[in-house]
Amino acid sequence: MYKFYSRLNGKNSGLIGYPCNAFVGRAKFHRPSGVLGQKSALKYPPPDLSPMPPCNFKPDEYKDLSKERMMEIRKLNCHPMIMKVTYYKKPVFIHQGHMQWLWDVDGRRYLDLFAGVATVSVGHCHPKVREAAEQQLRKLWHTTNIYVYSPLHEYCEKLAAHFPEPLKVVYLTNSGSEANDLAMLMARLHTGNFDIITLRGSYHGGSPQTMGLTSNSAYKYPIASGIGCHNTMCPDVFRGPWGGSHCRDSPIQTSRECDCSTGHCQANDKYIGQLKEVFATSVPSRIAAFFGEPIQGVGGAVQYPKDYLKDTYQLVRERGGICIADEVQTGFGRTGSHFWGFEGHDVMPDMVTMAKGIANGFPMGAVVTTPEIAASFAKGVHFNTFGGNPVACAIGSAVLDTIKEDGTQKTSDEVGTYLLTELAKLRDNYEIIGDVRGKGLQIGVEMVKDKASRAPLPAEAMNEIFEDTKDMGVLIGKGGLYGQTFRIKPPMCITMDDANFFLAVFNQAIQNYLARK
Ligand code: PMP
Repeated sequence: MYKFYSRLNGKNSGLIGYPCNAFVGRAKFHRPSGVLGQKSALKYPPPDLSPMPPCNFKPDEYKDLSKERMMEIRKLNCHPMIMKVTYYKKPVFIHQGHMQWLWDVDGRRYLDLFAGVATVSVGHCHPKVREAAEQQLRKLWHTTNIYVYSPLHEYCEKLAAHFPEPLKVVYLTNSGSEANDLAMLMARLHTGNFDIITLRGSYHGGSPQTMGLTSNSAYKYPIASGIGCHNTMCPDVFRGPWGGSHCRDSPIQTSRECDCSTGHCQANDKYIGQLKEVFATSVPSRIAAFFGEPIQGVGGAVQYPKDYLKDTYQLVRERGGICIADEVQTGFGRTGSHFWGFEGHDVMPDMVTMAKGIANGFPMGAVVTTPEIAASFAKGVHFNTFGGNPVACAIGSAVLDTIKEDGTQKTSDEVGTYLLTELAKLRDNYEIIGDVRGKGLQIGVEMVKDKASRAPLPAEAMNEIFEDTKDMGVLIGKGGLYGQTFRIKPPMCITMDDANFFLAVFNQAIQNYLARK
């Protein structure tokens, strides 16, 4: 039990300390001195930290609960789980958001590069989305799908238009876990098979059913949750046993070397070999499904060899299973090159699940599948009171419109590629940055003790860099099986100036850590 808690605490930011009082309007930093200080003469980035990019939005005056009162209530009346998952020793007390910015209750501004866990897609309180929500709130804020109302139908048609044939049937839910629960049920009903395969390190939800899909022990409980769920080795080309210098679909490759010829990846063959072993040993000859994130989210932006999903889909289909893309984090243009992450793998799933970015932070999820698979589910009755809520649908529609009008996907591509390229320079500069990976604005920076061992940077060190980055005004996330990967998944409206500010802050946080070491 002790091991379990200490791991989870390491993965998150540890226990709560005292409220933050560092001013962050202009980033504060400790300039390294002495021998390590010479590292500040590094080529990258510029020696001084430039001010946070300007923002002319003025937040309201904060008049709600004091920080002390919130912490008291959090301790007394909120489930202890939320204390456990609270980020930072000195937590951030958030008051208001506007686009890529958050203000805390003391009026300090933060550049939000984690978007409430990859969820605020087009920007906090985006004016167009807010307007759509307000209009719908004035008209009708709840009815349910036993009645017929325009926002649900407008939304389903609009969402389906973002998918190729035959993915044209939508079922709306309230969260990603709920969408994946439903996907599991539909896969089993449609195929008549039971067993489902996922990748180790994946996160697909925390409900008792999806806990079985999730292959990360920190999120598992000793209950009968995963009946029929199996996992295979994650084809992680940085941390896994096999990987090389051109395996992944990213502007940045690992620093591992390989002698693969173009178009053939030996690491892929090896990881597919592992999957074949799972087929041979752990599941019956007929299976229900394979679930895969196009890029692992909670797992730390892990990317697979380019053909891995394609080969997997074929093997799964040969065994009667359907292929499910969990786009909860990668959907809605986040990967930049495509609207859906699966498109980057050149595969066609039988079902796609989504949530998070779908409604810019309003609770909503969806399953999209083929008419044929949907029909097997319709043999029984399934009802969801809030799935298809009119306000959620109005917001979802406005998000789709905004992604188009604001050129969000292009921003993801351009700013994301820039960030990845510059972060790779930091990787080349520092022994403790092992890997930089991802696509668009789904980015992971994996920290290591040293490049040779690839041993994860310990939690205390991760937390120091994490806290310092926040104290200098930038919020990022953490993930990976050992809590060793920083995650950058901002609202997709960030600018090149924001990216440069973050790069300078992150570089400084690393230097500060090295100077203290
Ligand atoms: N799938 C993925 C890939 C996720 O990242 C998450 C949430 N982190 C979920 C499913 C579950 O979504 P929710 O928290 O909305 O239930």
